[in-house]
Order: sequence, then structure tokens, then C-alpha cells
Amino acid sequence: MKRSEHIRALQEEYARQRAADEADMERRIAEVYEKIPKIQKLRSESAELALSAMRSILTQQSLEQRESLAKSMKRQGQGINAEIRELLEKAGFPEDQMEMRYRCSKCRDTGYVGEAPSRFCECFEARLKRRQYEDGSMAGTDEQNFQKFDASRIPAENGQLEQMVSLRKMCEEYADRFPNTDFRNLLLTGKGGLGKTFLLNSIFERVTSRGCTAVRITAFRMFEAMRQQHVGNDEDFDGFSSLIEAPLLLIDDLGSEPMMRNITVEYLFTLLNERGAAKRHTVIATNLTPVELKERYGERVASRLLDKTTCRTVQLKGKDLRSL
Ligand SMILES: [Zn+2]
Repeated sequence: MKRSEHIRALQEEYARQRAADEADMERRIAEVYEKIPKIQKLRSESAELALSAMRSILTQQSLEQRESLAKSMKRQGQGINAEIRELLEKAGFPEDQMEMRYRCSKCRDTGYVGEAPSRFCECFEARLKRRQYEDGSMAGTDEQNFQKFDASRIPAENGQLEQMVSLRKMCEEYADRFPNTDFRNLLLTGKGGLGKTFLLNSIFERVTSRGCTAVRITAFRMFEAMRQQHVGNDEDFDGFSSLIEAPLLLIDDLGSEPMMRNITVEYLFTLLNERGAAKRHTVIATNLTPVELKERYGERVASRLLDKTTCRTVQLKGKDLRSL
């Protein structure tokens, strides 16, 4: 897909998002009206007030009269709003229950910011990049995100459930705080089928939904980018340099890529070293144990992967969830 096609597809996505935002607000308002009919009455009073205020202000002759009328109307309006807020709070509704909740407050889910000529919002740019980088071999983030976390599928024996619940929390905090995370890098290790990829995809989904730029890639595709770079063919958009520069890079299934002399270890070292020097965040999922990482990539790479000052290493344990 060309850039222009991605832009068009994204614009449609944003239009759908805005419609969904509105429907969501309508639904929340209806919920309030059903529970507290008085609020509906207050809201229509407030709307009437605003309308009659406008009319009477237009009929006033002097500027002073207009200003004082406007002021008193504003006070009345504020009084009604305060009453509504109080009723909402008493009923246990959140403060923004009856307001639009935008995924991006900067552009209000339009994808554009600024006066004409307007430009793409950061969130739009980030999602555009994400679409262009997107690795077709990876699971969709519609399926793999923190909301889809299903504790009922995880056995409670041997602390597996407990570990996953706490890991989910840790990863969610990491994604919500990015780039101001407690630790910069995260290494998820453990056998296949324990949920490492799910966590990695969930972090990716959350970070990119927040409008931050992240690149998610399988180790296999990372290797392809390295090989292309090595043969001097880095014209692809998803080239090796973009892996170095991504504010957050998520590599899935490290260890599954081919081991090619002069490429795999050397480029992985460069990647980790450059990213470390620039203090960029990296999340890696691998089936290899720390010992196996050392064996496969050598001391130099392993020491960067496992550096305790910047990296949190988590070893997942338990049964293969896919076989249950
Ligand atoms: Zn935005």
C-alpha cells in the first residue's frame, strides 16, 4: 500500500472513531437520564437559558446592559452545571460521564491540528507510521490488547495465573507511562505459549493508541532488515535504521531468526548499542533463557540484553496456554 492509500484508510478510520465517540457519549448520557431524570430536566433548562440569553443580549441596546445580562446568564448556567455535577458525583458517575471522551485530546479524534493549513496530529502520524511498518505476520492488535486479557484461560496451579496477572499490570503500567517508565527495557523470557507475545502486542497497542511511535517486528523480519542493510539495500521504509530510531521497539520471538555470519550478532549488537546510547526503549520476547541468549549471541550482546541497570527481565512459567 502506498502512503496516500494508508492516509485515506486512516481518515476513514478516524471518521468511524468520531462516530463511535459520539455514540458512546449518547449512550452514557442516556444512562444518566434513566438513573437521574432530574439531570435531563436541568440540561434542557440550561439549553433554553443559553438560547434566551442569546436572544435578549441581542435586543439590549447598550454595551453595559449586554455585558451585565451576559454575566448574570453565565452565573445561572454555572449554577445549573454545578448542580448537575453534584448529582452525578452523588450517583457515583465519573466527572466526564456526559462529555466526549476522545482517544486523542489534541485533535479530538479528527487526526488534524492547527488552523488552515492544518496538519496531521501526532497520533495520526504515529498511526500512519504504524500502518506502514506493520508486520503482516503479527497478530492484530484488535485481538491482542490489555482489554482482551482473559484470566479464565490461565491455570491457577503453580502460580501461573498470579504471575500473569501481575505481569499484565506491570506491562500496562509500562505502556501507560511510556516514555517515563520505571525501567527502560523489558525482556520477557520463557517457553512458547505462555503469553509473551500477547503482552508485547498489548504494550504496542496501548503505546500507539496513546499517539506515541512504536515499531513492532518479529525477529525474523528484523533479520531481513539487517540483511538488506548489509547488502546495501536499505531503501525500504522498514529498513534497519528505522529500527534504531524507533522511540519504542518491540521485537517478538528473538532467537527464531537465522544465524548468519557477519550479520545476526553484529547487527543486533549495533541495534542494541545504538538504542541504549540514545536511551530508547526496547521490549523483547524470547523463548531463550538468559544462558541460551549468552550462548547464541555472545557476551557483548547478552550483557546489553540483560543489563540490570536498564532492563527488567521476567521469566514466564507454567503450562502452554495454546494446548489447554
Ligand atoms: Zn490526535
